[in-house]
Amino acid sequence: MKVGVLALQGDFREHLALATQCGHEGISVRTVDELNAVDALILPGGESTTIIKLAQSFGLLEPIRERIGSGLPVYGSCAGMILLADRIEDGIVGQQTFGGIDMTVRRNAFGRQVDSFESDITFNGTQLHAIFIRAPWVEEVGDGVVVLSKAAGHPVAVRQGNLLATSFHPELTDDHAVHSYFFDEICKGR
Ligand code: GLN
Repeated sequence: MKVGVLALQGDFREHLALATQCGHEGISVRTVDELNAVDALILPGGESTTIIKLAQSFGLLEPIRERIGSGLPVYGSCAGMILLADRIEDGIVGQQTFGGIDMTVRRNAFGRQVDSFESDITFNGTQLHAIFIRAPWVEEVGDGVVVLSKAAGHPVAVRQGNLLATSFHPELTDDHAVHSYFFDEICKGR
């Protein structure tokens, strides 16, 4: 499978490495042609305000929205979760997202950079070690959204159809459970 990683800002290299380790071809996405070539897309962790502004200047905002709308499997970690949310709290004025998941996400919900932490959580029934860096959490979800993990009483991993989002960064650990779930449960057969 050709797995694109939006490579404008953030930890896209780690996601590219993980896609390769899972046996896929990792492709950096910075142009519409690159976007059109991929079978799945990952939105990395980083800074959601910067990524969305760069996506606008690179002419990728509407093309990514269109591909999400037509069923492309997309996984977003941390800033990527914010970018997949239909609604955000504590965004900057006018902050846009690609959207797609019927949820409200609160940016920096766990606190500031110094409040970053690691925690053992359950993801889809299995234990994993999760790294939270200025992470968002999910405030509320619509009916079509499945909650796969919770921390501090809030959803931190969710799925809606072909879209998957986590507040944490599995790309920074050796545990491939989240990426394998994305590739094997969501992308497979598409
Ligand atoms: N707080 C960042 C944002 O608002 C996300 C942090 C991260 O991706 N580690 O985009």
